[in-house]
Amino acid sequence: MTPRSSDASISVTSANNAATWYRSKYIGNIMNNIYNKNNNDDDDDSGNDDTYRSINENNTILHRIKQRFNNLDIDVKHLVAYAESLLCTVRNHEQTIYRMNSDLNIMHDRVCHYQERAKTAEQKIEEVIPPETICCICMENPREMVYINCGHLCACLKCERRIDDKCPICRTASRAIRVIYS
Ligand SMILES: [Zn+2]
Ligand SMILES: [Zn+2]
Repeated sequence: MTPRSSDASISVTSANNAATWYRSKYIGNIMNNIYNKNNNDDDDDSGNDDTYRSINENNTILHRIKQRFNNLDIDVKHLVAYAESLLCTVRNHEQTIYRMNSDLNIMHDRVCHYQERAKTAEQKIEEVIPPETICCICMENPREMVYINCGHLCACLKCERRIDDKCPICRTASRAIRVIYS
């Protein structure tokens, strides 16, 4: 799996750009409104009292806008900090996944290596002891017991003692005797 931190970086940059754009757009609109309002006030040719009232109103509006912007700025900073912490978490997870992947690859290589070794060992065993000379019951020890009624040489001593008095290959009732190789 390839680490992908670039997407999250783009998101943080986008959040900052969006905040800047919103600020400029919002301030622009508000300044236009105030400008239009002042022009209208000039047109109707009101007295000084009206002008002062208008200036006071505008000051109050500006003060509120400033407060709202301060609040917005704080919100944006929190959001950016949150996005950055998320990005950090994503990076940590990516590193963990990367490490786990390399561990997995190492383990996979080891498994392949041991499988190869097991295969080679099996081949060597078969070379040393051909399958047809191994006890047909335990598949481990060499065949050494021959069933005298059928003539099958098929079991080791240990297995012959564990089973009933019948040949394990043809099921003929028979006693078995041990064959000694010299
Ligand atoms: Zn056996
Ligand atoms: Zn038999």
